[in-house]
Amino acid sequence: MTTNSDRFEGSCHCESVRFTIAETPKWLTDCNCSLCRRLGTLWAHVNIDSVTIDAAKDATISYIQGDKTLAVHSCKICGSTTHWENLDPGESAQMAVNFRLCSTADIGKFDIRKFDGADTWAFID
Ligand SMILES: [Zn+2]
Repeated sequence: MTTNSDRFEGSCHCESVRFTIAETPKWLTDCNCSLCRRLGTLWAHVNIDSVTIDAAKDATISYIQGDKTLAVHSCKICGSTTHWENLDPGESAQMAVNFRLCSTADIGKFDIRKFDGADTWAFID
């Protein structure tokens, strides 16, 4: 099916922020937590080393909420949510990219799993 050579590209609406994911996510996550359900994001959880973000340093604004473990980045110009990263770099080698910014064809290649981030913190499929 998919191979390690797969690459997925996406960008925010105004293309100030572009990214490439050089890894095949296992699935895409549709989370119902208070933030994700408002943003409408579809997260691809991948290794930090697999993601290249091509953007000016100040191209995004980051939103940090709750227990302050994550920064959720959105394009400063068009508002598209692009990715989140761990604020403690030692915490995890994972980050997540908003796969909604990839092509619909690429989105169609993956299972979309529903994650109950609002309550049980588990997948509900
Ligand atoms: Zn933009």
